[in-house]
Amino acid sequence: MPTIGILGGGQLARMLALAGAPLGLRFLVVDNATDACAGQVAPLLRADWRDFDALAGFARRVDVATFDFENVPAETAHWLATHTLVFPNPRALSISQDRLAEKTLFGEIGLDTPAFAAIDSRDDLARAVEHVGCPAILKTRRLGYDGKGQYRLKSAADVDAAWAALAGAPSILEAFVPFERELSVIGVRSRDGEFRTYPLTRNWHAEGILSASFAPASGTDALAPHAFGHARRIAERLDYVGTFALELFVHDGRLLGNEMAPRVHNSGHWTIEGAACSQFENHLRAVLGLPLGDTAALGLSVMLNWVGELPPATPVLAEPGAHWHDYGKQARAGRKVGHATVCAASAAHLRDR
Ligand code: AMP
Repeated sequence: MPTIGILGGGQLARMLALAGAPLGLRFLVVDNATDACAGQVAPLLRADWRDFDALAGFARRVDVATFDFENVPAETAHWLATHTLVFPNPRALSISQDRLAEKTLFGEIGLDTPAFAAIDSRDDLARAVEHVGCPAILKTRRLGYDGKGQYRLKSAADVDAAWAALAGAPSILEAFVPFERELSVIGVRSRDGEFRTYPLTRNWHAEGILSASFAPASGTDALAPHAFGHARRIAERLDYVGTFALELFVHDGRLLGNEMAPRVHNSGHWTIEGAACSQFENHLRAVLGLPLGDTAALGLSVMLNWVGELPPATPVLAEPGAHWHDYGKQARAGRKVGHATVCAASAAHLRDR
């Protein structure tokens, strides 16, 4: 019975462990917080990312290591890869940790992006505002998530405020895209290179945080082959193994690459009940070298994120086709604490619910 090691003990690790139980898998989660919520369902080792003694013990106890958290330091991922199998590989992780490297990769595989420029100084920013135009978003190259590490510029008058807000961190300035919609591809690639995607997911964000997802996204027949092709080329270029997400904007009917996440993703949570095999189970199958599962949708699904605190569960549980997920986390503003997924056979049924 193999043991999967997971770096990071949040809700993604928790849902990976829950998906792995029927496969007979064991887990060991490492996190520096003693109350990491995956620790409620799997053994938790408390250690910092640079505690190499503790990580050596972790590596000895696991057959393969993977991530719930993409900002594990590249040094730690590389070190770990010399002590155990690590999927996705550390290079894939480090490219997706850096918005500049990630957008450069998108360009190389033929995926357009919003206009952007690399920013290392206030002068770079002032010049980039001229070239990229406004409105624009200044984003830190690293460690940004859920809209954190971002500043929106309405005009060139905001340059000083934006530079101060990001405290001089290496960044990119990105044109603000008045997109028609946001889509994501949840893709999975196996150790022997087989690649599958789930149907496209449509996403809505509020204040930079995912609020709702709907899948399969309607009206995407023409775009889907392009989106899947981009995802496949990215996965092949990175020799990626496991589940990942590619987040896209649709603007003037064209796809633009926003970012990728080198892990299971919030916009794929609907696959737990809404697809034949979930993104979590498929990630585990991929990193273990097992055959991939069927990514077909079973009907239509809507996923609603609970951010900050949970609403009452009872009305959701009373609804046919509704599924409740409480991550076992303390309520806190801006924190993802749970989600619900409502599944139905048709759009009319889903609307009713
Ligand atoms: P990110 O962390 O870069 O994925 O940004 C979070 C969310 O902010 C995205 O999903 C969009 O809703 C919005 N956003 C980010 N970048 C842009 C952009 N260049 N233009 C318009 N909206 C954006």
